[in-house]
Amino acid sequence: MNVTRDLFNDVMVPNYSPSAVIPVKGLGSRLWDQTGTEYIDFAGGIAVNALGHCHPELVKTLKHQGETLWHLSNVLTNEPALRLAKKLVDATFAEKVFFANSGAEANEAALKLARRYALEQFGEHKNQIIAFNQGFHGRTFFTVTVGGQASYSDGFGPKPGNIDHLDYNDLASLESMISDKTCAVMIEPLQGEGGVVSPSAEFIKGVRALCDKHNALLIFDEVQTGVGRTGDLYAYMGLDVTPDILTSAKALGGGFPIAAMLTTTAIASHLKVGTHGSTYGGNPLACAVAETVLDIVNTPEVLSGVKQKALLFRQGLEAINQKYDCFGEIRGKGLLIGAVLSEKFAGRARDFLVESANEQLMCLVAGASVVRFTPSLIISDEDIKQGLVRFERAVAKVVNG
Ligand code: PLP
Repeated sequence: MNVTRDLFNDVMVPNYSPSAVIPVKGLGSRLWDQTGTEYIDFAGGIAVNALGHCHPELVKTLKHQGETLWHLSNVLTNEPALRLAKKLVDATFAEKVFFANSGAEANEAALKLARRYALEQFGEHKNQIIAFNQGFHGRTFFTVTVGGQASYSDGFGPKPGNIDHLDYNDLASLESMISDKTCAVMIEPLQGEGGVVSPSAEFIKGVRALCDKHNALLIFDEVQTGVGRTGDLYAYMGLDVTPDILTSAKALGGGFPIAAMLTTTAIASHLKVGTHGSTYGGNPLACAVAETVLDIVNTPEVLSGVKQKALLFRQGLEAINQKYDCFGEIRGKGLLIGAVLSEKFAGRARDFLVESANEQLMCLVAGASVVRFTPSLIISDEDIKQGLVRFERAVAKVVNG
């Protein structure tokens, strides 16, 4: 069959608008398209391919588990799921794990758990969920409504109720809105899709304190920041603030779909038998791959490597900015980096992405005015340097018109 980009328009639901390039092969931080053209990958499948493409250890695990046992359903438990859960519990604040298949599903579980916990522990009146403008938590109707972009949740009829949004980093607003009717505050400990925005130390610590004061659960959505992305295994570890519930997906499977919701025993006890579930969640194939991802990422070499590579990346971007004066700020943490376009180029992040692809470099945007980079956590220094040479050519094209 002749597979072309036109076929997408013929057979796919039109909710995406993919690039004309169709990659057919990946290795490490390189991709090749149908014509054999090679690309450097600074996008990493939107912060998913934490160990690059086709990492030999992941391939080995996938092959081994693929020849052993794929799927059972949650009528039966399985060894890879229990091993992965034990490792997640040992590595974090959490005592209990629920597995799902995507970030949205892990967040859906977190929100349902928070609502149920509040209902059973305090009563029906405690059901308000507070989240933040520009936040992103997935596309199920509950999670997209909790997300802070009405344009994503509008147009589908009546929304789940009692969800309020405030500005990120605005502690005073939270202080005036939160009350004993608040059941949970959901927040990304570094907003990814919303423009790569870090919380101030005062804000994130203040959010924790206000949640404690009002018996509201603090949910950290670490779907994008988790599994080494910021240089800590989870971003909360670098903020010195511990959530009550944490969600992880994306990098957890290194490209194989899996997600997890982590919490304490006391909170988890409210999801009794039959209250929630997933057919695929925690299947042996996904859990085996994620166990290998965790074994590799949760090491001092990889985590300190992220910090060192982030420095190299930022220095390169600053050098480009010195020449072309197109960024107002380079921000983010670890290998979740946002280059914020200066006033002159505001709204044109997509142009930088398109020119990058023309220069054989894959990158991302985060909103209209931020170019985002989420490469493999183990990208070689050489690939970073070569990728930035390509990015500079793209920048030059945009800047020089
Ligand atoms: N939460 C955050 C912070 C995300 O960045 C994303 C995806 O970009 C999601 C949730 C949704 O994850 P998924 O697309 O796997 O459902």
